[in-house]
Amino acid sequence: MSYTSSKGQLWGLVDCNSFYASCEQVFRPDLRGKPVVVLSNNDGCIIARSAEAKKLGIPMGEAFFKVQGYLKAKKVAVFSSNFALYGDLSARVMATMEEICPEIEQYSIDEAFIPMPEALAVNAEEIAVTLKETVYRWTCIPVSVGIGPTRTLAKVANHIAKKSTGVCVLRPDAPFQQILSKVPVEDIWGIGKRQALKLAGVGIRNAWQLAQADDSWLRKHLTVVGWKTALELRGIPAIGEGELPTPRKSVLSSRSFGEKVRDKALLAEAIASFTARAAERMRRDGMLARGIAAHIRTSFFDQQRQYEQSGQHTFRFGTNDTGLLQREAAKILSDIYKPGFAYAKAGVMLYDLIPMKQQQCSLLPMPEADPRRMELMSALDKINGKHGHGSLKFGAEGLTGQVWKMKQNNLSPRFTTEWDELATAYCK
Ligand SMILES: [Mg+2]
Repeated sequence: MSYTSSKGQLWGLVDCNSFYASCEQVFRPDLRGKPVVVLSNNDGCIIARSAEAKKLGIPMGEAFFKVQGYLKAKKVAVFSSNFALYGDLSARVMATMEEICPEIEQYSIDEAFIPMPEALAVNAEEIAVTLKETVYRWTCIPVSVGIGPTRTLAKVANHIAKKSTGVCVLRPDAPFQQILSKVPVEDIWGIGKRQALKLAGVGIRNAWQLAQADDSWLRKHLTVVGWKTALELRGIPAIGEGELPTPRKSVLSSRSFGEKVRDKALLAEAIASFTARAAERMRRDGMLARGIAAHIRTSFFDQQRQYEQSGQHTFRFGTNDTGLLQREAAKILSDIYKPGFAYAKAGVMLYDLIPMKQQQCSLLPMPEADPRRMELMSALDKINGKHGHGSLKFGAEGLTGQVWKMKQNNLSPRFTTEWDELATAYCK
C-alpha cells in the first residue's frame, strides 16, 4: 500500500491535554503537576482528569460519591465544572493558533484541525513545535500536536504525541503498518462501539487490519463514515468537513463572514443559523446539550478597532430544541454585542453533552423535554431531509440578505438541484 497523499498536503490536529483540568490549573499554579479532577453538572461524575489523576487510576465518568473518599485520601483537587472559564480559555487557545496558521477548523471545545497545504507541510515539524510552545506560553494550556496525511491519521499522530513529547508528525513514508497495528479499532476516530464489535466479529481488531480490509465488504457492512475512515487510514483524504463525527464534549458551528457585519440584526441571523445547524447535528446523533455559548469577533487584521467577546447559558436539563437554543443564543448576543465594530466571525458552541437516553427524569415540568416540541423538531428534520437543507427554518435565521454568508462569488450554478439555475440551451 502506498501512502501518497494528494499534492503533499498534510492535516494537523491540535488537542488540549486534559482540557478542563488544565483550565483549572491555569489560575492555580500551585496545582500544576498535581492530581485534579473536574465534575459534571450538579457534581455528578468525573468528566476530566489531569495526567496525575489518571495515574492514580481514577476512571473517567465515575460517579463522584463512589470515589469521594479515595480522592480525599490522595489529596486530589476537585472542581465543579466552570464552562464560562473553559469557553473563554478555548477561544484564547484558538486565537493563538490562528496567529500561527492562516486557517484552522475548530472541531470541539479543545481541538482544532489545521489544513496544511504543501507550502506549510514542508515545515510541519517546525510548525508543530511552534504551535505547542506558543499556545503554552500565551495561555498556559498544554497541547499535543499530531500531523498526518489525513484527518484520521492526524488523530492517530495526536494519540502518539500525547504519550511522547507532545509532537508527532507522520509523513506519507512513515512505517504505518507498525504504527496502525498498535491502534485498537475502538480507538479509531469515528468508529463507534457498535461498529468496533462488528469488526471484531470478522477479525478486524486494529487500524492496520481495517485499512487492509476488503473494499466491498467495508462498503456493505459499515456506515459511510466507517468506510471513509478506512480510506483515510490508507492516507486518502475522504472525510469532508460536513461529515466529521460528533465530538463527545461539544458541537461547534462557526464561520468567517464573506463581508464584515456591523448590523446587530444580521449578526443575530447568523447566530440563529449556526445554532440551527448545531442543534440539527445533536438530533442526528441523539445528543442533548446542557450549555450553549456564542462568540463574536472582529478581524485580527483590523489593527484599530478590535473586539472579541463570548457568553454562555446553562440549561437545567439537556436540550436539542432549535427554538429553545436560538432564544438563549439571542440573549447571549444581546449581552455581548457592541455597536460600532466590523464583525468578521461568529460562532455557537453546544457543550456539556449527554446522550438523549441519559436525560434525568424530573418531577418538575421540563420545557426542554416537551414531547410536542420533540415532534416538531423531528418533523423539521424530515422535511429538510427530503426537500434540502434550510427548506424549512426558524424566522430568527432570516429569509433574505445573509451577507454574512461565506464569500462565494465564484460559485458555479447548482445545475442539478435548483430550478432557477438549470443550464440554458440555445438553438440558433
Ligand atoms: Mg483534549
